[in-house]
Amino acid sequence: MYGDMLDLYGDSGNMEILRYRCQKRGIKCQVDGYSLGGELPDLSTYDLIYIGGGADLEQQHISADLLRCKEAIKKAYENGTFLFLICGGYQLMGKYYRDADGNEIPGLGLFDYYTVAPSSRRKRCISNIVVRTKFADVVGFENHGGQTQGVKSPLGEVLYGNGNCSKSQFEGYFEENVIATYMHGPCLSKNPELADYMIGYCLGRDGSPEPLGELDDALEKKCRQVMLDRLLKK
Ligand code: GLN
Repeated sequence: MYGDMLDLYGDSGNMEILRYRCQKRGIKCQVDGYSLGGELPDLSTYDLIYIGGGADLEQQHISADLLRCKEAIKKAYENGTFLFLICGGYQLMGKYYRDADGNEIPGLGLFDYYTVAPSSRRKRCISNIVVRTKFADVVGFENHGGQTQGVKSPLGEVLYGNGNCSKSQFEGYFEENVIATYMHGPCLSKNPELADYMIGYCLGRDGSPEPLGELDDALEKKCRQVMLDRLLKK
């Protein structure tokens, strides 16, 4: 959703990765885009909804439209559709995002967390980041003013960088059918395990799927190892 507006650091590449990893395995994958003011499809018919990151301005621009989609997104989520959310998209599924000027952008309130940016625009969390998740130690790049509080089930533990707040212990938000994170990158090109978890989840909605076939991720893993070694100074 809003891939033409919420696409910081090539976030929409995440959908390319999902499509690529499905195609390689012969799994049918149809990606439809939804843009501001467009005709809203029945989101419950989709296995996954993706919303990327955006600056405060873009978040303000889509705010009214996103609220229009509230019931449709909520219904899909409650029906088991997977929500994959990056940064600005992550923030807007919580209660609200208050920007550096004090403007409050209402969230959809699907989750209890809320996000407030400090009044000084210089105080941003800008860093490479390493997060220990149940899937793998994953890497990304974070750039957010917003400090997200009240997260009940984080995606993982911060080994390097900031996470949900400046120098916080935890990063992101996780439920069986939700991955929300501050990791740009695009996140999935750097961390194929997250992509495969989502694909596996989506396939599992139709019964009991075969385990996913292995793909050759040697290069991706080697790249990530360089970052892990550099940041964690092994
Ligand atoms: N505008 C939000 C913030 O600064 C989100 C930024 C982003 O998506 N990278 O916190």
